[in-house]
Amino acid sequence: MPMEYKLHIGCHLSSDKGFLAMGREASRLGADTFAFFTRNPRGGRAKELDLADVEAFLQYKEDEGIVTLVAHAPYTMNACAAKENLRRFAHEAMADDIQRLEHLPGNLYNFPPGSHVGQGTEKGIELIAQQLNDVLTPDQQTTVLLETMAGKGTEVGRTFEELRAIIDRVEHDDTLGVCLDTCHVWDGGYDIVSDPDAVLTEFDRVIGLDRLKAVHLNNSLNALGSHKDRHAKIREGVLPEEALARIVCHPALAGRPFILETPNDDAGYAAEIRWLREKWEEDHGKN
Ligand code: FE
Ligand code: ZN
Repeated sequence: MPMEYKLHIGCHLSSDKGFLAMGREASRLGADTFAFFTRNPRGGRAKELDLADVEAFLQYKEDEGIVTLVAHAPYTMNACAAKENLRRFAHEAMADDIQRLEHLPGNLYNFPPGSHVGQGTEKGIELIAQQLNDVLTPDQQTTVLLETMAGKGTEVGRTFEELRAIIDRVEHDDTLGVCLDTCHVWDGGYDIVSDPDAVLTEFDRVIGLDRLKAVHLNNSLNALGSHKDRHAKIREGVLPEEALARIVCHPALAGRPFILETPNDDAGYAAEIRWLREKWEEDHGKN
């Protein structure tokens, strides 16, 4: 079976012990990709990059068939904050993260676009685009992903149109993509249960499916359009598990890395990965 003819799935892992440890942990859980925080999700400072560990990981990645990684920016990063010092932190953290990710070329960097905190969506979009214009360079080998958001509070990126508006304002937009979070789009009002085809067609019409580089696969604790953003385990939330399996098997999403951000321990992640791989194989066997 050729390498790419396979479901690429993994989960969020702790980066405490470095990249090689994450690679080994991914393999142990049945994953062939993973996500990790580039720095403490709540605090600011990034750990010094251990280049020997990075090198060992890159060899491991090649040997074991680990595919594209989906790094995650800290939640505290708000590119459209009202306070200048918070915007400066967002800028510096993103620039520094991207610079360090260049040691692992060709991977993805997901970030929540931000919350406009009362300045209005238009202003938020403008500030986010401004940061991306300041930080992105045409020769960088990391693709930055805007995450689709649930629309909690004053989050920007709650509709495909808002993400499109950001992309339209960014100059080096070939280094810019989108990560579709299934909990967030559901909470945002996109019915991926009744009509996943319509949602993906809408994504394609507004943003373009070629921009969709990764999927955060989560169930939700809340109703369609609730704008809450509370993740649930794949087989326990309000979305039927079969609906999430259909997303994983959807031909329009083939080849993308799927990342679980579900509230699980290691065994729980391994079980979800195993179940989704079974679903994918069933689906691909019968075609
Ligand atoms: Fe997410
Ligand atoms: Zn979320």
